[in-house]
Amino acid sequence: ERQIRQLHVFFLPLLAHGHLIPTVDMAKLFADRGAKTTITTTPLNASSFSNTIQRCQDSGMDISVKILKFPAVEVGLPEGFESADMMFSSREGNKWELIDKFNQATSMLQQPFEQLLQECKPDCLVADWFIPWATDAANKYGIPRLVFHGTSFFALCVSECIRLHEPHKKVQSGSDSFVVPNLPDNIELTKNQLPEYSAQDAETDNFTKMLKAAREAELKSYGIIVNSFYELEATENIDKAERGNKSAIDEHECLKWLDSKQPDSVLYVCFGSMNTFSFAQLNEIAVGLEASELEFIWVVRKQNNDDKDDDWLPGGFEKRMEGNGLVIRGWAPQVLILDHETVGGFMTHCGWNSTLEGVCGGVPMVTWPERAEQFYNEKLMTQVLKIGVSVGTQKWVKREAIEKAVKEMMKGERAQEMRNTAKALAQAAKKAVQKEGSSFSDLDALIEELISCCNQNMKTPKA
Ligand code: UDP
Repeated sequence: ERQIRQLHVFFLPLLAHGHLIPTVDMAKLFADRGAKTTITTTPLNASSFSNTIQRCQDSGMDISVKILKFPAVEVGLPEGFESADMMFSSREGNKWELIDKFNQATSMLQQPFEQLLQECKPDCLVADWFIPWATDAANKYGIPRLVFHGTSFFALCVSECIRLHEPHKKVQSGSDSFVVPNLPDNIELTKNQLPEYSAQDAETDNFTKMLKAAREAELKSYGIIVNSFYELEATENIDKAERGNKSAIDEHECLKWLDSKQPDSVLYVCFGSMNTFSFAQLNEIAVGLEASELEFIWVVRKQNNDDKDDDWLPGGFEKRMEGNGLVIRGWAPQVLILDHETVGGFMTHCGWNSTLEGVCGGVPMVTWPERAEQFYNEKLMTQVLKIGVSVGTQKWVKREAIEKAVKEMMKGERAQEMRNTAKALAQAAKKAVQKEGSSFSDLDALIEELISCCNQNMKTPKA
């Protein structure tokens, strides 16, 4: 009789937009197949996707949210400091100190979270890789823990090859390049591009310990879920507007603007939810964009609520760009924009969600990674899939490099080739999530396995 019992999947995402958004998508996929789903998060994070959840519930999906208070103040963070995004955008305090406190507060969620597991008795826990204690929590209640990786499978492979073979130890300086062994396409990186390496300069011991614990917890967990190229959600089913936050522009206004353009003519520029470019770099981007003479939508994150909006923009920029360039200050409806037929290219920081969304939108990309595994995703775009043009590897990117890269992506023969490849990938992504497509079948297989796991009461983790 267990078979007809509804599978209950619990989700515990990392507190950051880039992890919450795919978690909500995942919960929707499970709920769509009839599972009961529960997402656990904190008040501020819950409010950022409450509209999405409401829409899901209205359409009959069994999705609910459980809220845990985040002990920010208890660890010395300001009240309301509940998102990892804030660590990077905050101008106050040492970044590593903030990361440390944030992780400490996240660990303090273990006890109340276990209380929830005890009350709700789910059948399975999908928890973010960055939350190592989730494996112990799940084991305590005899349920399988699946590790969710917010990044690409490619980035995981690069990371593992580097960890096992340590090719970076053969080079001296941070800017010397080395080839990553055991990977096709002769992928070259520099030490400066390794998250582990850049972290080691400034990191606290606690951070290293946390990464180690995450790796160990992964080995003890039931399995892993990767939001890979073959697991794209069908564009039809994606909640395109307001993914994870309230848009700073009226969506109809944005669509009207895009509708007035030619197919594949608009460049979309956005660097994710945590970007920390200096005002000088933002100014340089503005000049580069203007010089390219392309039509564009440019999303500029406010770093601080009391930032004076326009101080850093070149004088008269928006007046001159009127009709040709749209600046969105704050959160943009990114998927809505990327899926629009007049959008023909994407300048991105290579966060994995953005990269996937660009692929699904069938657009080539100018890659401008900033941190973490974004450098690995860049290689996937530029060298493996060949739908990306790198803006360059230097820290400070000059206007000329910006102009050159965006033109190369948008205009000419190479641009057309990349666009054709990107469109073919978008088609493949759509096919993957249709009935009998690879992602569709993968999810079916996972659900079946979880149900049989409950049936046999084999709730002990596999090694
Ligand atoms: N995003 C958005 N509007 C914005 C900025 C970001 O909708 O103005 C969404 C974007 O579509 C993606 C996520 O936020 O789903 C960012 O995740 P990603 O992994 O690309 O980068 P991160 O923000 O984690 O660095």
